[in-house]
Amino acid sequence: MSAADAFIAALRPEVRDLPAYNAGASAERVREQFGVSRVAKLASNENPRGASPLVREALQRAVEEGVALYPDPSCSALREAIGATLDVEPARILFGNGSEDLLSVAAQTFLSPADEVVTVTPSFGLHVIYPQLAGARVRAVPMRNLRFDVDALCEALTPRTRMLLVSNPSNPVGAALSGDEFERLLSAVAPGTLIVWDEAYFEYARVDPSYAASLPILEQSHSPWLVLRTFSKAYGLAGLRIGYGMASDARLADLMNRVRTPFNINRLAQCAALAAWSDTAYVADSVQHAIRERERMRAALTAMGYACAPSLANFLFFDAREDADALAQRLMRAGVIVKPWHEPGFTRCVRVSTGSREDNDLFIETLGRVRSARH
Ligand SMILES: *Cc1c(COP(=O)(O)O)cnc(C)c1O
Repeated sequence: MSAADAFIAALRPEVRDLPAYNAGASAERVREQFGVSRVAKLASNENPRGASPLVREALQRAVEEGVALYPDPSCSALREAIGATLDVEPARILFGNGSEDLLSVAAQTFLSPADEVVTVTPSFGLHVIYPQLAGARVRAVPMRNLRFDVDALCEALTPRTRMLLVSNPSNPVGAALSGDEFERLLSAVAPGTLIVWDEAYFEYARVDPSYAASLPILEQSHSPWLVLRTFSKAYGLAGLRIGYGMASDARLADLMNRVRTPFNINRLAQCAALAAWSDTAYVADSVQHAIRERERMRAALTAMGYACAPSLANFLFFDAREDADALAQRLMRAGVIVKPWHEPGFTRCVRVSTGSREDNDLFIETLGRVRSARH
């Protein structure tokens, strides 16, 4: 046994056995590896139009001012802006290096070894990885017919549940809970459970008439909660890494602020997010574009005979009726990157983001060509 073998064998099992996050292939790699000139990257739910033009101006100004000084550790300007728009007390707002950072900080702050976490499957990989790293036991309730199984979720919740962690709308499925379902779920939550409500796709969902706004419902509940949102999706800032959260109580935010690294949001990200936040018309336009394209893609998938979940987000999840990895490989050779699902029970499912009109056309046309001949 080498020294490194022995060293690794002595580490916490949570670290040794931690699953890796599946970030997917980059456009550059696919271009090089398969020699395709055109790549449609439809695997990470980014905004194909990029960020508001105001972001470019803000970044240029920030670069001229220089980056020698540390950023504001409390993101004061952005905190004030978000607090004022959402009517949330600034001390209850949190910032993370992407909302994934806030997921990590929440797990480190609120979970102890052997704590129980209830989530769903299929789900966002980090909803399982971070709790596991903290030593928690994750109970993942399967979605049923591509909808949240509220009865099963209520049954899974016990007084020992430390955290209920759900993405609404669901990533990868796109489905969201109705107001009634959400209230029913909340009524099954014990007093010792923190509700972590990941709303990475809030900007897309909120314009759907069926969407139940969670903040007013949570504000009425007696449970502690944390809502997470991000600048990576509708705001088009995934490359800069910034997300925000709101806690039910300033004391929860204060605890997380002590656990996080002090300068977790860099200077450029703070400037860009403030500019992006101010350009509400740009975000609204991006959302409308995504919804139009999403419904066009859904119609095309349905016409090809695929079962495709209704989605309130900027992606679709469909049953490929063949091994998802194999289909994704064939699409990738033709320059189309999608996300094949790997969780047990969902390995024939594929998630595809809504991209530009041209990218979506390439996806539909390529899928028609490379899908299994059985269809
Ligand atoms: C994309 C995504 C995030 C992470 O977003 P970042 O802010 O870029 O870290 C978090 N949760 C869900 C469900 C997501 O889909």
